[in-house]
Amino acid sequence: MSADSIRVVLVGGGIGGLAAANALLHRGIDVHVYEQAPALGEVGAGVMITPNSLRLLDRFGVGDAVAAVGASVGEGSLYYREDGSTVAPMLTVDSSGWNGMFGVHRADLIGALADVLPADRVHTGHQAVSFSQDEREAVVSFANGTEVRADAVIAADGIHSVLQKYVIEPSAPIDSGSVAYRGLVPAERVPWWPKGVSQLWMGEQRHFLVYPVRRGTLINYVGFVPSREKAVESWTAEGDVETLRREFATWDSPVPRLLAEVEKTNWWGLYDRDPLSTWTRGRLTLLGDAAHSMLPHLGQGANQSIEDAAALSVFLADATAETVPEALSHYEALRRSRTTEVQLGARANGRRYDSHFQDLAERDAEIADSARFRSWLYDYDAEAAAEEVLAVR
Ligand SMILES: Cc1cc2nc3c(=O)[nH]c(=O)nc-3n(C[C@H](O)[C@H](O)[C@H](O)COP(=O)(O)OP(=O)(O)OC[C@H]3O[C@@H](n4cnc5c(N)ncnc54)[C@H](O)[C@@H]3O)c2cc1C
Repeated sequence: MSADSIRVVLVGGGIGGLAAANALLHRGIDVHVYEQAPALGEVGAGVMITPNSLRLLDRFGVGDAVAAVGASVGEGSLYYREDGSTVAPMLTVDSSGWNGMFGVHRADLIGALADVLPADRVHTGHQAVSFSQDEREAVVSFANGTEVRADAVIAADGIHSVLQKYVIEPSAPIDSGSVAYRGLVPAERVPWWPKGVSQLWMGEQRHFLVYPVRRGTLINYVGFVPSREKAVESWTAEGDVETLRREFATWDSPVPRLLAEVEKTNWWGLYDRDPLSTWTRGRLTLLGDAAHSMLPHLGQGANQSIEDAAALSVFLADATAETVPEALSHYEALRRSRTTEVQLGARANGRRYDSHFQDLAERDAEIADSARFRSWLYDYDAEAAAEEVLAVR
């Protein structure tokens, strides 16, 4: 760490916060993470890591660790109609043919990102409650009475961000009309399930996604169905297994057969937000879901937060205490345009997956064509893009 490094405080020790801590430390920046939970997250089920973020994790030095705890997903991954007829292959490589897709349990991803951080950099049991700043520095206050001072504060505190309001009036959650039931089935209980692939079935107003995690020992499923009652926007609410089974009872037989093995499920109300018009105010900026919460229909929530982390580290690497606000505004300018497209793309994909089409042939053609959008997503190098911005300044 260089003696004259700026001081960075990251609020939130989720995927985005921990990825950013790795990226910043990698560039010799003095950073501390403050997480409200008493321990780093054991909660959650599967997240899909895609090539656009795996290439960055590789550079932070954690790509191998993530691959080691994940399950590779590749050729044979498919989109189906609800009756099991094939619609199109699912893209699992970037344009160079590199397969950087891994299903990862969120707890394993958090573990891989946290394990390489020096212990004195992560402070659990710190719930941020307020923020202030002046021309010289920023101050974050925590519920336990602690106050920390920094040159830059990064709010990586998730969809219900407490610090977002110090940048912009929070935008209202938009109910998507769907809920997601998600959970895990031990692979040994479904030995007939195909290995190393992701599969997605699409039907009227619902869809069903399955991929492996934890070296293939667990099968992660998510069933998206219309919401009949109001569900909370929470990752931990318990759902009713029988209701989930009923929703997909008549679908292609692997779906109800897998659901027959489910013992416990969580449900999560799917809300969207319009893209924010700004992320930064002075020494404070937003990262991850706090900046761009999105529907899960492109599997990009975690991946975009990792891209944010890489780009941020480039802009802060050369910043001084005086130039931090300028560096953060460059970060926002680069990231906000891309994540806005991803947020809107996730909405559009949800309409395809839930078959909101008069003519399903048209939907199927769009699904087949979505490989082009996926290539745009997967080929992107957030670090190189940030370096390009700096080079032309
Ligand atoms: C408990 C949980 C389970 C999840 N499970 C899944 C899943 O199974 N599949 C999936 O695709 N996505 C899941 N997600 C969402 C996914 O992790 C995010 O969409 C994505 O990784 C973006 O990461 P993020 O760092 O912006 O937000 P998150 O990963 O949500 O992290 C935000 C972090 O900030 C902390 N925090 C919040 N407020 C404060 C505060 N005031 N002070 C200090 N810390 C604070 C939270 O405790 C959390 O650790 C889950 C998120 C959470 C919080």
